[in-house]
Amino acid sequence: MLYIVSTPIGNLKDITFRAVETLKSVDLIAAEDTRHTQILTRYYDIQTPLTSYFEHNQFKKGEYLLKLLKEGKDIALVTDAGTPGISDPGYHLIQLAKDSDIPITVVPGPTALIAALTASGLPCHNFIFEGFLPVKPVARRKKLEQFKGEERTVIFYESPYRLTKTLQDIEEVLGNPTVVCARELTKKFEEVKKASAKELQQHFSAQKPRGEFVLLLNQ
Ligand code: SAM
Repeated sequence: MLYIVSTPIGNLKDITFRAVETLKSVDLIAAEDTRHTQILTRYYDIQTPLTSYFEHNQFKKGEYLLKLLKEGKDIALVTDAGTPGISDPGYHLIQLAKDSDIPITVVPGPTALIAALTASGLPCHNFIFEGFLPVKPVARRKKLEQFKGEERTVIFYESPYRLTKTLQDIEEVLGNPTVVCARELTKKFEEVKKASAKELQQHFSAQKPRGEFVLLLNQ
């Protein structure tokens, strides 16, 4: 069985009983960064061996993990934070397992986009998640063009290094909409700030952006 296990996005206590039980009972945990996942396994006294499964070894390692699954081993797939496959490795292994008729189950839990959406105060009934915007300015602006007139709440992940630049592009391409910046959710410096794209640029120009961010907008 392949278990797709969601893990905390900051606060180690945000994990389900079933996730902890699963991580304890499987034969192997395939983790994006084994050192990072060790913080979680130590906290919950999980003794299961860990192996790495990340973007740059996912094809080769995926075949190896599939072989173990075919031999009858139980494997849990986790990433550094949140839900595997959501702007994180996972999709390839899940597809391999599915195509090989390996039983798959999901152990749901946190994901930053849903945490941000529910805390944003923006409409939650209809939304679109875009993951990370392209890094290159021209491609980023072109992608943003696609959301002109979008009625649904649009959600992006963004790095602190590109945040002010992205806010500037949002202002210029989408006409200064109201944006919610959800920062460091579930952590000590959690902050959910709602303002125009221009005001948020000014805010984060005065106060350097730090930590992890989700950007949401509703036009
Ligand atoms: N798989 C993860 C999930 O389910 O949300 C996402 C992994 S992606 C590589 C990491 C990005 O998620 C960060 O750059 C940030 O945009 C967002 N993120 C993760 N944790 C967050 C948090 N605690 N607060 C705000 N954003 C977070």
